[in-house]
Amino acid sequence: MSERYDPKQIEARWQRVWEEERAFAVPNPEPGEGDRSKAFVVEMLPYPSGELHMGHVLNYTIGDVICHVRRRRGFQVLRPMGYDAFGLPAENAAIREGTHPRESTERNIAAIRVQMRRMGWAIDWDRELSTADPAFYRWTQWLFLRFYERGLAYRKEAPVKWCPRDQTVLANEQVINGHCDRCGAEVEARSLTQWFFRITDYADVLLDEMETLESWPERVLTMQRNWIGRSPGARVLFRVDGSGEELPVFTTRPDTLFGATFFVLAPEHSLVGQLVAGSEQEDEVTSYVRHAGARTAVEREKKEKDGVFTGRYAVNPVNDERIPIWVADYVLMEYGSGAIMAVPAHDERDHAFAERYGLEIRTVVRPADGDEPEPGAFSAHTENEVLVNSGSFDGLPAPEAKRAITAWLAERGLGGETVGYRLRDWLLSRQRYWGCPIPIVHCERCGEVPVPDDQLPVVLPELEDFLPRGRSPLAAAEDWVATSCPSCGGAARRETDTMDTFVDSSWYFIRYTDPHNADGPFSRDVADFWLPVNQYIGGIEHAILHLLYARFFTKVMQEMGLVGFREPFARLFNQGMIHKDGAKMSKSKGNVVDPLMYSERYGADAVRTFVLFMGPADQDMEWQDSGVEGVWRFLNRLWRVVHEQAQKPAVAAPDTALARKAHATIAKVTDDIDRRFLFNTPIAAVMELVNEIGRAPDDPAARFATETAVSLIQPYAPHIAEELWGVLGGARLWQHPWPEADPALLERDVVEVVVQVNGKVRDRLHVAAAIPEEELVALARASERVRAHLNGGEPRKTIVVPGKLVNFVV
Ligand SMILES: [Zn+2]
Ligand SMILES: [Zn+2]
Repeated sequence: MSERYDPKQIEARWQRVWEEERAFAVPNPEPGEGDRSKAFVVEMLPYPSGELHMGHVLNYTIGDVICHVRRRRGFQVLRPMGYDAFGLPAENAAIREGTHPRESTERNIAAIRVQMRRMGWAIDWDRELSTADPAFYRWTQWLFLRFYERGLAYRKEAPVKWCPRDQTVLANEQVINGHCDRCGAEVEARSLTQWFFRITDYADVLLDEMETLESWPERVLTMQRNWIGRSPGARVLFRVDGSGEELPVFTTRPDTLFGATFFVLAPEHSLVGQLVAGSEQEDEVTSYVRHAGARTAVEREKKEKDGVFTGRYAVNPVNDERIPIWVADYVLMEYGSGAIMAVPAHDERDHAFAERYGLEIRTVVRPADGDEPEPGAFSAHTENEVLVNSGSFDGLPAPEAKRAITAWLAERGLGGETVGYRLRDWLLSRQRYWGCPIPIVHCERCGEVPVPDDQLPVVLPELEDFLPRGRSPLAAAEDWVATSCPSCGGAARRETDTMDTFVDSSWYFIRYTDPHNADGPFSRDVADFWLPVNQYIGGIEHAILHLLYARFFTKVMQEMGLVGFREPFARLFNQGMIHKDGAKMSKSKGNVVDPLMYSERYGADAVRTFVLFMGPADQDMEWQDSGVEGVWRFLNRLWRVVHEQAQKPAVAAPDTALARKAHATIAKVTDDIDRRFLFNTPIAAVMELVNEIGRAPDDPAARFATETAVSLIQPYAPHIAEELWGVLGGARLWQHPWPEADPALLERDVVEVVVQVNGKVRDRLHVAAAIPEEELVALARASERVRAHLNGGEPRKTIVVPGKLVNFVV
């Protein structure tokens, strides 16, 4: 046994042992074995677009810690890993490197696999999967066809978002403030025939069933709620004067209908051309529409509101007033119907437009107390307004008028109550090579024909020239495209668009439960045993995209009888971002820290422990080289203490202060990891315990305290812990039961103190019963959770009930 801590040597050795023993492989349950307590822990799978970075190390170490603790507490733990190998990230990486995506994906996967093993993550490698593997994407295609059969996948021409750099359409969810989520380019509007998933049919259930996601971060739920954007309102049918055409609009303010003094169509609205055909305004309107089409949504948002009059009028159903129809690009096609009734007195953007073109501004709601409304106070719409200039509805309070006007419209077939959503259908087709082929053929006689299940997978053809040029590169693969119609046997052509990578990631986590199944995507019994995922871990950037899509897929699969659960992820944890020199790490800033380099120097254990020691894992944190070194020194100290204590006989620990300290540490570490999802404080607690042992090496409980320290640090630093456990005469710490605190030893000295802010419980501290009051207050104020609620302010009053409670009044 080496006297010096040599991480390189011991880490390689233990990694070999775990691999040889398949230490973290977990079998699926036998039939009828469904009652065992299980923990299915999934971290969002990496894109193999490069090697792992420190953010991955944080993500997967959080998962590792949770898994080790759960496993040692007697749970059946499933912790698999895979690669999100199709799609833009992998393809763009290949283009940058000048290689074929298959080649670069395979190479990156091989490199990532080596890195993961070297980090010592406890992964069930028997279940490893890649979404670009035909054995996997066969079932992505199979699921697509099931959606297609139910009318939940369809093709239509629609205005879409186009990324000029990636040369492909994007889903609305992939456009962030008008920019491509992948490459940052400003997106353009185009009208193209594309494939969609009908996620809007699930808008209500996606919202309502969020009620069951109690263990999700509130901000993720809020982001999803806002994205779905359900708002109650009214549908109002305007008529085009002198034609039979109807112009439906959605409004949340039917009470302002008498204030509509003009009507606006988005430039992309399908009626625009027809309205001006052959008229004096035709040239001007056509030219405006063309220019608007070349602008990005960002430009449209930023520029001054302008537009053109079409020369036509709409008839307001409530008063038969003729109001001019304008075309203006401040109205976007993707919201509502691409048409609005403009109420310039009560809407800021309509107001700016009316001012510019001298259009009438008519006040129709005002405060009930008779005060004049503040000019321009559009957001100050309150419940105690009443209607004016609104015919027979004058004097009605606004909320009542909303109902009355909506009912009036409904009675006459001119509209009625409806609910508006911000959510649009999910655009899933991409004009790119590296993706899952859409299993549809186009036949001149039969139209769209699904590829029969027994002909799946439709394998992605090998293409030398895969560069994006605005149409799918697959179109160039003539031999592949030309096929026969599964229905009539005639000549047909394959669909050449591929699927967005978010389709793959909408169900991959279920495939983990049954990854080698060749007869179906997974077996329902096995999926129902493991799912919902007990703990899902990943970045906040997926709060809407991936998480919303995965929830949608799960609901549809449940309705198909494929699974027995409605929500895929019972609990969600979003890790923070690791910064360096105050900024997000990026290659362009040159502040990237390479996990391999640090684990070469200090060992994987030091790197793993340090990423969690930096701060609360759900918050952004700052990388410091001195910090890794500090953790490395701690591991060295632990090494020395263990070798020293190993000389002593193992005896039942007597009741000493050190023994009580060890038990208090067990209680704290367990509670922090398992219940509070705090991963930094347990490390500090173990460090403290090791310091105490150093101060009292001859305490009769010193050996027990040492064993405890090794056992508790194992989830963080599994290699050194395993090695030292051996030094102490044990074996297979990863299977050894997690230590339990003796309540008898705890009760006397350690108490739980509730910390409140304004009477609301914000944290619980485990402290020595005899802690001085000032120290207790200082500890309570230092708590992250409490600080978040003090908002940096001084408490007005601090109430302390010793041994029980601290309450800050602010
Ligand atoms: Zn892009
Ligand atoms: Zn046919």
